[in-house]
Amino acid sequence: MTSPRTLLLHTGGTIGMAPSPEGLHPATGLVERALDRLEAGGAVDLKRLDPLIDSANATPEDWNRLSAEIAAHHADYGSFVITHGTDTLAFTASALAMALEGLDKPVILTGAMVPLEQPGSDGERNLADALRIAGEAEPGVWIQFAGQLLRGPRARKVHSAAHDAFSGWPSERMPRRAGPRLIRHAFGRASIAVLPVAPGCAMQVIEHAMKVCDGIVLRCYGSGTVPNDPVLAGALEAAAARAIPVVAVSQTLEGGTTLGTYEAGAILLRHGVIDGRDMTLEAAYAKLALALATCPDLAAQRAFVEAPLCGEFGPTT
Ligand code: ASP
Repeated sequence: MTSPRTLLLHTGGTIGMAPSPEGLHPATGLVERALDRLEAGGAVDLKRLDPLIDSANATPEDWNRLSAEIAAHHADYGSFVITHGTDTLAFTASALAMALEGLDKPVILTGAMVPLEQPGSDGERNLADALRIAGEAEPGVWIQFAGQLLRGPRARKVHSAAHDAFSGWPSERMPRRAGPRLIRHAFGRASIAVLPVAPGCAMQVIEHAMKVCDGIVLRCYGSGTVPNDPVLAGALEAAAARAIPVVAVSQTLEGGTTLGTYEAGAILLRHGVIDGRDMTLEAAYAKLALALATCPDLAAQRAFVEAPLCGEFGPTT
């Protein structure tokens, strides 16, 4: 029988922060005291990940630590809640949905825009909602924030101050990687650059990245256009010659890329850039990182990034 207990993994973030002379920083005790106030202690085991971090400092190694905790306790708990900083919460949600093949429990990420023990905090409400939803949600990786339950690999932080800081987009698939049993896939230490284009921007930066990085997420305009610039074209040629994956995503919030729509952008297809379609930047980044860690060559990495994995693409029209 599945345990009704929830494992709460506290990673840091504003929800558990306290003031310091240089600004808010992670502190212990706040989430613990909130659990006492919510009288949730009886059904919840809390594990603090050491050290607690501002999620600005998160790396794929932290995604690995979280997926390892969930994998180690997958059979022991009915659900998992992760308290996390909001800045990179959507990256972690995407990463966990991709890393945990065969995940059979709800994993609910939440956090706060105002620390638990400051006036006007949204932390206690989000924590209480996440713990309640953990007992009801379908298996998969979800974000519970400001009253909304969002699909982990289809959500983004869209506001830097409002309580209602996340938006989510639909998908035809559940936010989980299906499989008959739990298999945990680990992220590696690939060097991945995230590079936006802008009118007249220094293409030499992109050129350098394409020569030294293991993979690139290229943030294009609209449906997948970029300046028809000889330095950019040369950079893409260098990336293709090194057989490193370049994934195009859109700078727009909705709609995504459809490479080949415009002539301004033809250089992307010509040089084998992978169409990220309507993946969020967060999902595309995590997926590229996992492709680099688990696929042997560019052809396999391309196939991995293009194929639906865990509800990271929107509904097909
Ligand atoms: N800088 C904080 C973090 O991501 C912001 C937050 O949690 O709201 O850890």
